[in-house]
Amino acid sequence: MDQPVDHYWQLKLERVAEALTANNFDVIIAKDLTAAHETVMDQLLPASGAKSVSFGGSASMVKSGLYASLKARQDLEVIDTMDPKVPPDEKVERRRQALLVDFFVTGTNAVTEAGQLVNLDMIGNRVGAITFGPKKVVLVVGRNKIVPDLGAAMDRVKEFAAPANAMRLDMKTPCVKTGQCEECKASARICNTWTITEKSFPKGRVSIVLVNADAGL
Ligand code: SF4
Repeated sequence: MDQPVDHYWQLKLERVAEALTANNFDVIIAKDLTAAHETVMDQLLPASGAKSVSFGGSASMVKSGLYASLKARQDLEVIDTMDPKVPPDEKVERRRQALLVDFFVTGTNAVTEAGQLVNLDMIGNRVGAITFGPKKVVLVVGRNKIVPDLGAAMDRVKEFAAPANAMRLDMKTPCVKTGQCEECKASARICNTWTITEKSFPKGRVSIVLVNADAGL
């Protein structure tokens, strides 16, 4: 068999897609990040009729090229919450406004095999938007985010994703030095709000693009 690893993951992604669909999420499987980009730009965005768009921090979303492509769209109101040149106060205000856009793109920290999303946020703008506000939410999710259950999801986030994200963001937190969560009290702590999203409400509000490749942290 050619590409047995991809075949293994394709079968697993199909099972997870079934569980997510049963939980009222809209699910598309993409073979790689390029296909994920096409799915969002050519299918999900036009189908949504969106006039405004924004983002939650997500390495997968950036790496797929979606952040750049959406930012470049002149026909959409784009609330760029991730521009490093924007001063902190303005960034907070943009994140508040982003909760009211038509189309919000981000990622998730983990997906369980039962079709639940698990996230841990520093600011809360990402989990806030996933939960309520934007009319349409699209999550780009690499196969590396799939875990057996809620316990494994929380372990994945605290043992890997949070320290690795703190490193990615150059945060002044102890995990950046030690490589493990120290349950810090740092002002830069990125672990403040957990969410477990059991189902999409209303049905289909949250679209999940499952990518048959590792993506994001
Ligand atoms: S609680 Fe603090 S030390 Fe632990 S992962 Fe989060 S930021 Fe790092």
